[in-house]
Amino acid sequence: MELIEKKENKMTFIADIDESLANVIRRYVDQIPILAIDEVEISKNDSPLYDETIAHRLGLIPLKNENVKEGDEKKLTLSSKKEGYVYSEELKGEASPAYNKIPITLLNKGQELEVLATARVGKGSEHVRFSPGLLYYRNLNKIKIDKNCPKEIIDICPLNVFKEKNKEIIADEKKCDDCEWCVEFCKKQGKNGIEILPTEKLIITVESFGQISEKEIFKKSIESLKKDLKEFSKKIVK
Ligand code: SF4
Repeated sequence: MELIEKKENKMTFIADIDESLANVIRRYVDQIPILAIDEVEISKNDSPLYDETIAHRLGLIPLKNENVKEGDEKKLTLSSKKEGYVYSEELKGEASPAYNKIPITLLNKGQELEVLATARVGKGSEHVRFSPGLLYYRNLNKIKIDKNCPKEIIDICPLNVFKEKNKEIIADEKKCDDCEWCVEFCKKQGKNGIEILPTEKLIITVESFGQISEKEIFKKSIESLKKDLKEFSKKIVK
């Protein structure tokens, strides 16, 4: 595997794995056990939002999943009286939000919000609030550049794949997303200047919503898959 990009909550790498395996790892991201607010009791809500809307917003606030295991239940409270936005940082208790400044609602002077929330462990396949992030992939392409290729393709490519070096056009193949715009452009000029050939390798991107890191998403997705396969093989043996 070759890491090609690492940003906050996001990593992209090249992997020499079969597409069907990458697809099952992608699907198993939603089988990772994740803690999220699952039940809310609202004892006071003077804000302009309905109780149901506040409950929905609370459910979608990513919580830090530190030392969380299946079956865990954690209590959180939110008590706000001050004028202005109520933010996720005001949730206090046995778990904490991954981001402090997620707006929940707005209070005017003299208004209050009182909530008791229960966070439980669930899976993204049940509801999106338990989803830890996204995994997606595409093929790494091989780009063949003909010597008659028009130089204008350097400016045509929306992802700046091409540049000129020593009077030759070269391509950074890792950036190409296979839109074929350059191929069409060359064809319109009556030339077969560019050929895009998918390779066996995949460019995989993992993005985290904040509950666990992107690295853990990839690792835990494989662990969940292994666990299910183990259960399945036990049943076959029986
Ligand atoms: S296929 Fe699209 S992204 Fe790839 S090199 Fe051509 S124009 Fe750029």
